[in-house]
Amino acid sequence: MRRSRSGLIMRRAVIAPPRGLPEPMVCVGCGATYSHRRWTRKAEVKRDDYEPKQTAQGTLCLACKQACDGVPGGFVYLSGEFLGNHHDEIERPLRKEAERNAQDNPLARIMGWEDTDNQLIVKTTTEHLAQRLGHALEKAFDGDVRYDFSHENKFARVYWERGV
Ligand SMILES: [Zn+2]
Repeated sequence: MRRSRSGLIMRRAVIAPPRGLPEPMVCVGCGATYSHRRWTRKAEVKRDDYEPKQTAQGTLCLACKQACDGVPGGFVYLSGEFLGNHHDEIERPLRKEAERNAQDNPLARIMGWEDTDNQLIVKTTTEHLAQRLGHALEKAFDGDVRYDFSHENKFARVYWERGV
């Protein structure tokens, strides 16, 4: 109970960070900066904002926290014969989509790739990114996509499959 409660708060914070977070704040994990009530990627921060006035030591952004804890917000499961023959081709639009999405929300990231004999599993920090990756796969390669959401827990599983 306690766990799902804190999980929910964490994910909500990704979209709308709570008031009262010290600004600017820099994540020690990835360098993302929290300023003007939003997270920005390091490279996008304006020069004026770049020198943090108060940096909370050991502060991690929510995405890094999630990566540390190993708690994804979404999974994308890829399978089918097409995957075996086009592995690299398939990864490319996924990375591209994640990069594009990171411009809107720098805390939405691919957390990890798990490669097994006949399945590729992509873990994402947000359920929204998992959904976007599903759309990207559909757009690039067709195939069948199934979305499985838990709105209550803000969690998504996306299944993509294509034959030859
Ligand atoms: Zn971070």
